[in-house]
Amino acid sequence: MAEKVKDPVCGMEIDPERAAARLEHGGRTWWFCSEGCRRAFEQDPARYAGQAAGGGHGGGHGGHG
Ligand SMILES: [Zn+2]
Repeated sequence: MAEKVKDPVCGMEIDPERAAARLEHGGRTWWFCSEGCRRAFEQDPARYAGQAAGGGHGGGHGGHG
């Protein structure tokens, strides 16, 4: 069983071997389900990479929809 990775943009779990796109950022490799997700990440890497890193309270006082 291959280890799955999470697409930081859309949150989809994907198999790295079947990922449509890949990008190295912040000393680690990110995998994406599509070119579109990779581009979105490139546009604003901090937004997605920060989320995935997690571990604490994210910045911003978001409302509860
Ligand atoms: Zn995606």
